[in-house]
Amino acid sequence: MYRINNFNPGPAALPLEVLNQAQDTFIAYRNGMSIMEMSHRSKDVEQLFVETQQILLELLGLNSKYQVLFMSGGASMQFAMVPMNLLSPKRNGSYILSGSFSEKAYKEAQTIGNATIAASSQSQNWSTLPAMRDLSVDPEAAYIHITTNNTIEGSQFRDFPSVNSVPLIGDMTSDLLSRQLEFNKFSMFYASAQKNLGPAGATVVVIHEDLLKACVNTIPTILNYKTYAQNNSLYNTPPVHSIYMMKLVLEWVNRQGGIAEIEKMNIQKANLLYDVIDRSGGYYKGIIEKPFRSMMNITWRMNDEKLEKLFVQESELHGFDGLAGHRSVGGLRASAYNAVPYQACKDLAEFMLDFQRRYG
Ligand SMILES: *Cc1c(COP(=O)(O)O)cnc(C)c1O
Repeated sequence: MYRINNFNPGPAALPLEVLNQAQDTFIAYRNGMSIMEMSHRSKDVEQLFVETQQILLELLGLNSKYQVLFMSGGASMQFAMVPMNLLSPKRNGSYILSGSFSEKAYKEAQTIGNATIAASSQSQNWSTLPAMRDLSVDPEAAYIHITTNNTIEGSQFRDFPSVNSVPLIGDMTSDLLSRQLEFNKFSMFYASAQKNLGPAGATVVVIHEDLLKACVNTIPTILNYKTYAQNNSLYNTPPVHSIYMMKLVLEWVNRQGGIAEIEKMNIQKANLLYDVIDRSGGYYKGIIEKPFRSMMNITWRMNDEKLEKLFVQESELHGFDGLAGHRSVGGLRASAYNAVPYQACKDLAEFMLDFQRRYG
């Protein structure tokens, strides 16, 4: 069966093994029913949730002080839920601005309460990341919010703020499970599924019990984290199939050797492409300053836009998909998430060399 080299930024490539498994159980998961046809109140679904939560916490090396919540609405809904649950007239939310998604999170918080900027790299057009030592965070802030990987621009944090008294919250939508982090430094992090965790539909929130206690009670039930925590994410009908797919992806990550092995592979994959960029004599120009480059979203520009368009067109003829940069940035972007095979990156590196030979 033909499988394209899929470099889409999200929804993105899924492991072929997982797709095959899902196909095997598509019509009959158990008892002559598809999981999509089952009641979310059934034992099967309850067990699926508990197992998925356990596997995720084990992969992340977190203890039972953390809870895994499943919801819908994507990371964008978290942009609203975080401030709704945690801001109060006396406590602001502190935001590190490092790219367009972090800016969206900040703007959403402003519609709900007081949000301030702890640091920003906007004046450098997001081509760098704010230095963590220059943060200005109110020690009384309700939280500090960081986007660990900037999907659109192609940058990724390696240092994280340590403001002892202030809970750290991470939008990890585009790099959760792609690398090892000190996850226990975070009071909460979230990710919508469609980059590294599965198909679109489900969003994962991992939250520490202390932060859960700090959530307000004055907001609608369906938007309160406590509702999800108290009902094992079964207060209303959750996206069951999407969560089932996530479980298959988590098991696949385990079979690869866990996050440590996945990370090694991701570094090799990204470096195949960065090496071509850096050795191209300026033909391909990385958009992000080297120390801040993302291992997930590799972005670059070429000398003129016509050539960039031609690159995208030709790449499609050669069996690649998803390489056009985000409309707000332009240029090219290869999203090499966990499920993108090493061979796909190798093929792309060779295509880039060949393209330069032909048009350079
Ligand atoms: C994709 C993405 C989002 C938006 O996710 P939705 O599920 O579409 O709401 C937010 N933040 C980051 C870092 C992303 O990569």
